[in-house]
Amino acid sequence: MKNLSVFILTFFLSLNLVFGQYEPTVPLKTSTYTFDQPYEIVKVKPVKGKRVRNVILMIGDGMGLVQVSAAWVANHGKLNIDNCTTTGLSRTYCANKLITDSGAAGTAMATGHKTNYHCIAVDTLGNPLTSLTDLAHNRGLKTGIVVTCNLPDATPAVFCANNVDRDQEEAIAADYLSCNVDYIFGAGRERFNQRSDNRDLLSEMKEKGYQVCTSWEETAKITGGKVFSVVSEGQLPLARERGDLFAKASLHAIDLLNQNKKGFFLMLEGSRIDDCGHSNNLPELINEVADFDKTVGEVMKWAEKDGETLVIVLADHETGGLTLLDGNLKTGTVTGNYSTDGHSGILVPVYAYGPGAAEFAGIYENTEIKKKIEQALFRQKH
Ligand SMILES: [Zn+2]
Repeated sequence: MKNLSVFILTFFLSLNLVFGQYEPTVPLKTSTYTFDQPYEIVKVKPVKGKRVRNVILMIGDGMGLVQVSAAWVANHGKLNIDNCTTTGLSRTYCANKLITDSGAAGTAMATGHKTNYHCIAVDTLGNPLTSLTDLAHNRGLKTGIVVTCNLPDATPAVFCANNVDRDQEEAIAADYLSCNVDYIFGAGRERFNQRSDNRDLLSEMKEKGYQVCTSWEETAKITGGKVFSVVSEGQLPLARERGDLFAKASLHAIDLLNQNKKGFFLMLEGSRIDDCGHSNNLPELINEVADFDKTVGEVMKWAEKDGETLVIVLADHETGGLTLLDGNLKTGTVTGNYSTDGHSGILVPVYAYGPGAAEFAGIYENTEIKKKIEQALFRQKH
């Protein structure tokens, strides 16, 4: 009997050696890229005051430490993110899976609750949850979201909608009508005006008091009031084609929301970093992280001057299982290897700058991010 078990064990172990250990299930995807547009970073001083009037939450979708490190090498050893005075690590797993998605991870950060994979601001039973944008609105703050993806996509959706399934994009788009967010910028126009129910949500947003724009030029002219801007169908183009649109829209949002004396909460997402991870595209990834980081620089410059704005830069999860294999700080050349075309389960970085930044040090669950933001914004405002 004992011999038989040993035989069975040995048999399965050898099977594992033959079919498991020596046969990688995913082909190794290694590429090398030299960044041809290095940029100067801004220098900001730490902010001295303690009062937090505004919070700007910047999410790099799928932007793990290796994505940041790759961009750092590509930009010859400097990034605007490095101006952050505090760093922390967040755990990303969701309620029913170790490897999360942007729906469940965004829900954790926006509402403070771990939920199931693919859920949008609902709990594990499907009940709607209150997000940071709702909380801020209820306290008299202005709110905004600026993204480079389609608006019904998971990360913007967790701040503006509730749904058990992120793929219900038409239903999620309809939730924008009741989300009370003052500045909304992104893409995915077809979900609003070419729908299976024939509703024209763009006209309905107008009736709700939004200035509805379908181009950046139109959006840029607005100097006050509520904005709903869907500048293209599908996603926005990747960074190299998009130019500095993300930075421009982010600063425009800050400009408008800052007219409110009580302050604002603004979420800015570098959405397409994640897509480059899924497609294992190192060159486009580096350009996306660089675009995100340049926007971080613009935001920090503004926050330094303002003195009452907490800036948090983080990721919802890592995408691609990227490894930094080689590189050259002088030439901006990076060699990276992707191990998956999906997400990975590693801790992701949290960087913070401004009053209240110190609260973001340490290792914590992604749900803590909502709690820390809430405390920072509302501590002194009862
Ligand atoms: Zn993804």
